[in-house]
Amino acid sequence: MAYDPNNIFARILRGEIPAWRVYEDERTLAFMDAMPQSDGHTLVLPKSPAENIFDLDPAMAAAVIQTGQQAAHAVRQAFKADGVMLVQYNGPVAGQTVFHFHLHVVPRYAGIPLLGHARSMAEGAVLEEHARRIRAAWPA
Ligand code: 5GP
Repeated sequence: MAYDPNNIFARILRGEIPAWRVYEDERTLAFMDAMPQSDGHTLVLPKSPAENIFDLDPAMAAAVIQTGQQAAHAVRQAFKADGVMLVQYNGPVAGQTVFHFHLHVVPRYAGIPLLGHARSMAEGAVLEEHARRIRAAWPA
């Protein structure tokens, strides 16, 4: 499948539609997942147009991991998470639903099961507050 430049994440990257942004640098953007599987669920994207791991430039993969590591620190501190999962899907059969590469940074809390993947929208005000907390905890 060819990369679709009008996929929802490409449009967020271009600023055409809003997102609850927490961090941005030259190569990556991080924002809140609109249908979080746990409080603090954050997505990290490369700014290059890659659909999945197979067409992602290795230097951009490194940049995504670096930002993902920072996001893991930030969500752990902001939400006092007991653990953090980094997850990434490639292809519909693997569970990918948006076809611009992204890394899920998912805080885990003892005794609290994950919500379903891309199932139910969170309230915007809640996501904005979570984004604010993550921005405040982002490592220097
Ligand atoms: P995938 O299934 O491709 O790994 O993950 C796509 C993720 O993007 C899902 O977790 C879903 O909740 C999230 N998502 C889908 N549409 C939007 C959107 O318009 N804005 C944001 N912030 N997240 C989205």
